[in-house]
Amino acid sequence: MSVNMPFPSAPVYSGLFHRAADVSLHFVVVGASVGGLSVAYNLRQAGHTVHVLEKSSKLAFESATGGIRVPPNMTKLLFHWGLEDIIMRTGVKCPRIDFLEGTNGEILSSVLYHDALTRELQAETIAMKYSDLIQVLYDLNIESGVRVDYDAEIVDVNLEKPYVILESGEQIFGDIVVGTDGPRSVVRRKMDGAEIREGPYTGHTFTIPVANMQRDPELREFTRDGTWKLWMGPKKCILSFMVRKDTYAVQLIWPRRNPSLGWDKPVSLSEFDVSEFEPRAQRLVRLGAEAIETQHVLQDPLEQWFSPNGKAFLVGDALHFLNPGTFHGAALAMEDAAVVGSLFSRLRTRNRQEILVLLNAYQEIREERCNLITDSEYERIHFSVLEVGDPIRAQRDAGLKASREIGALDWDSVSEEYLKAQWEEFKGSFGYEAYDAADSWWVDWGSLREKMSVRSIPEDEELPQAVGTLAGANVVATTSVY
Ligand SMILES: Cc1cc2nc3c(=O)[nH]c(=O)nc-3n(C[C@H](O)[C@H](O)[C@H](O)COP(=O)(O)OP(=O)(O)OC[C@H]3O[C@@H](n4cnc5c(N)ncnc54)[C@H](O)[C@@H]3O)c2cc1C
Repeated sequence: MSVNMPFPSAPVYSGLFHRAADVSLHFVVVGASVGGLSVAYNLRQAGHTVHVLEKSSKLAFESATGGIRVPPNMTKLLFHWGLEDIIMRTGVKCPRIDFLEGTNGEILSSVLYHDALTRELQAETIAMKYSDLIQVLYDLNIESGVRVDYDAEIVDVNLEKPYVILESGEQIFGDIVVGTDGPRSVVRRKMDGAEIREGPYTGHTFTIPVANMQRDPELREFTRDGTWKLWMGPKKCILSFMVRKDTYAVQLIWPRRNPSLGWDKPVSLSEFDVSEFEPRAQRLVRLGAEAIETQHVLQDPLEQWFSPNGKAFLVGDALHFLNPGTFHGAALAMEDAAVVGSLFSRLRTRNRQEILVLLNAYQEIREERCNLITDSEYERIHFSVLEVGDPIRAQRDAGLKASREIGALDWDSVSEEYLKAQWEEFKGSFGYEAYDAADSWWVDWGSLREKMSVRSIPEDEELPQAVGTLAGANVVATTSVY
């Protein structure tokens, strides 16, 4: 571990935001997954220095199996960050989602990602290998001068100074600690002390070489385009999609199994009973050997997303954990990151009160959206795992079939009425513009500030004078100079 390496000194500001902060803070980010790398990049672009600490090894990320679905609200951010070419080259575009009756494979309905909708959203829907997404974000951070240390597990956090304590006992100081350390967040536990509870589902993710599917004519069909398939079985569901030209991903949502809370526990797929699913789904699962298992957890919503003194705040799954493998988990983390970056690009002073106003704005901008998406994702899962014989399952299937009648599967004959209805449904969740949300808060800020109840503002207080200057920015000491 090399936690005291000098920071890279690449230029800070490359035009993501309208301006860079007048003063530079030093952020210590805990966790280098999607949330951590996204917030680190955005804060760096906003003019701050950032040190990311991750407990796993770099190799663990490179070899992580599993696929991640990237909705338009997330690709839009990746495109903003200059990653359109690499993302579109690496991932696989999704033309539609098929909803299948799990036991017999009948297509009940499909959602089309029609070109007209994509044009309106100005973004694509794709799927990627999780490891490919992380690599792209990691490279982006390194290029922009963020320091990322692996094998650096945080065991405790002091919210007063603030600093984090590594397993080795080493203390790393910053102006602000950002908890992007997922559902078992050490930073969150320190902030609210609440325990997490096991949720009703366990998620499992694995990939299969496309070559192995080619030998089975029915499975080969699944690899012809990027169509996602969702088998809605009793109590369980299976979701599958292409993540690379040569790699196919499968996710299983199962009733709670032996709880394991990370993304690092491999389990043998022979343990899974798929006999209630139609034969193609069974054969698909049988092509895999092991899956990564992760338990869904429930957290009570946090009343305040930041510590009362403004020296720590949360982003991503540490704040709002969705069921493992849902559509919006990574997207919400990225949106959080974009809003945080945009707000902190406007920082004018090191005044504690000003920081609290920005953190309060972050929560105000994001809270409703995150609650809405979290609730709707839970509903989607419940909807996909209804028992055979449950009258709601019958209603669901009838509703899906009716929508199939309206929206012809052939793109050229999609009716305008269907497109309009789809647009209404899409624009809420997929049309969200994180930077616009922050900008409009800023435009309204003068009047809002009066109305805003900053939940807990201590006396006006300046942050301690920074030690050292890096990349033209002030940096509060890390342990090496403290
Ligand atoms: C290895 C891995 C593989 C994943 N694979 C998939 C997938 O295939 N499909 C999918 O849809 N989603 C996957 N996810 C989850 C997905 O990344 C998240 O749901 C979403 O992107 C939100 O990300 P997050 O950064 O907020 O949280 P997370 O992705 O959970 O990241 C939290 C990070 O913090 C680190 N961390 C936790 N505690 C500490 C500590 N004490 N000190 C230092 N670091 C700490 C963790 O190692 C992790 O890297 C995976 C996550 C991980 C970590």
